[in-house]
Amino acid sequence: MRLRTACPATPRAWTVELRSHAGGLVLICRHCPHSITPITAVSARSTALAHLARHVRGDLRPPHLRICQCHECGCRWHPRHRGCAGPIRLLLACERGGRLWRLTDACSACAAVTARAAVVPDTALARAPQPPAAARQRRRPKGPGERIRVREMLSYLAAALPESTSAAARLLALQCALRMNTHMRVRLSKGVLRSLRLDTAEGPWNELEHARWLRMAPGGAANEIAAELLDLTLLGQAPARPDRRRAADWALRASSSAARAIGPLPRLASVYLAANTDPELGTGPGDLEQMARACGTRPAELASPLDQLARTRLLGSWQGVSI
Ligand SMILES: [Zn+2]
Ligand SMILES: [Zn+2]
Ligand SMILES: [Zn+2]
Repeated sequence: MRLRTACPATPRAWTVELRSHAGGLVLICRHCPHSITPITAVSARSTALAHLARHVRGDLRPPHLRICQCHECGCRWHPRHRGCAGPIRLLLACERGGRLWRLTDACSACAAVTARAAVVPDTALARAPQPPAAARQRRRPKGPGERIRVREMLSYLAAALPESTSAAARLLALQCALRMNTHMRVRLSKGVLRSLRLDTAEGPWNELEHARWLRMAPGGAANEIAAELLDLTLLGQAPARPDRRRAADWALRASSSAARAIGPLPRLASVYLAANTDPELGTGPGDLEQMARACGTRPAELASPLDQLARTRLLGSWQGVSI
């Protein structure tokens, strides 16, 4: 009789690389032997993220069995800090100008100091679905509040969408990601699109389709637009859809409160500021670099939308922030 030895748990950290190859680009996964997938430049980011997401979904583990993989690797993915602390989250990090992508379990302290990285929102991957009887009862909101959900989603989209993605497409992506169902399908009513001032614009949809982040679904009703999201990493979201929808409504209100500010960039900047402002203190983020990334622009180009928001009194002043 042979004794079975316990298999050491594989680390929950996965890395893929995009490399130039004769005639194009290939995706190389460090965890899939002999996996070299030819890809096109336009689909590179979405293919890399989809591949990483498949690894995560193949390794669901309850929270108490997850550890900071950053620490396990000697914390060499970020500048020195005081040590690991806080809950373990799933962190998406990008290095070498988008050529290397890593999805890993990391503690909140390591996640906070890792450059070009975003916590994947609400990663309750191993959470059991609610029994129907409990679902019928009056449910209490679960997980983080609207502001935190929106903040995390903006941060995630900053990493997951191509840098060139316009502010309008980012506003749309935020609504889609927060409103999608468990099959990754979403229907945006004309009312929601009107509030976003995107009811007549096809460009942002085309942009997200081109980035392979979503696919438009044909045959939707006349008063809505239907799409299927292709970003598998988002499936890590907790099943609490009503809470996500509430967060989507909150973001909608935050964007339409900038009514007098023209253009999608001030509206997106307004959502970002609301999501990153401490309601107790009334002070917002100090990192313009991060804000610019979430808004799909450069720090210097934020001056004009911030001025517009200051004129509409949504923002008291922004002089304190350094460019
Ligand atoms: Zn792989
Ligand atoms: Zn670390
Ligand atoms: Zn850590």
